[in-house]
Amino acid sequence: MVRYKEIHPGSIVFDFDCVVADTMEAFSRLAMADYGILVRSEDITSFAVEQCLDVSPRIVEEIFSRLLLAPLENNLKPMPHAVTVLTDIAACAPLTFITARPDREPVDRWLAHIFPADVYAKSRLVAMGNHDGKAAYVRELGLQYFVDDRLETCVELAEAGISPIVFAHPWNRGRHSFPSIDSWLGIKQWIHLYDCST
Ligand SMILES: [Mg+2]
Repeated sequence: MVRYKEIHPGSIVFDFDCVVADTMEAFSRLAMADYGILVRSEDITSFAVEQCLDVSPRIVEEIFSRLLLAPLENNLKPMPHAVTVLTDIAACAPLTFITARPDREPVDRWLAHIFPADVYAKSRLVAMGNHDGKAAYVRELGLQYFVDDRLETCVELAEAGISPIVFAHPWNRGRHSFPSIDSWLGIKQWIHLYDCST
């Protein structure tokens, strides 16, 4: 399998939903708790969940809208080990998050709540409002690697000379030949975390 080695911690960008935040856990939990609908993670085989689940598009939109506007109030959790690994990376370099979400403020509040204050203080967040165009931002920031779960985005990044890293989920597994990790512990192995205290 293709993999990267020795990624400099200051050269990598992270997508937000389904990479830093466990968006589909929250989606499944809210679907069950508030609508009585069972959604298993393996059933989410398309990025457009309304295409693979037997759930009305209105309910899908309602749940995602809650997670967009009020992630903390709806208990959106970080992906397993995301906070510890990002804390380690932040000791070496600032963190960069670029999301397709239109509203920056709810994500910013979530980051401030989830991360220790010194880690949050070292993070920058860009809310694109669009799935396309992430590559231009990454280039503008002079960064090289981008962890994302959406394949169309990874293709766009690769075409622009950015090195995509696919965060594996049922909707992207086996559908690409990009380097891929399936957990934050996997990401950590690829990043060169030198002793930053010296
Ligand atoms: Mg995502």
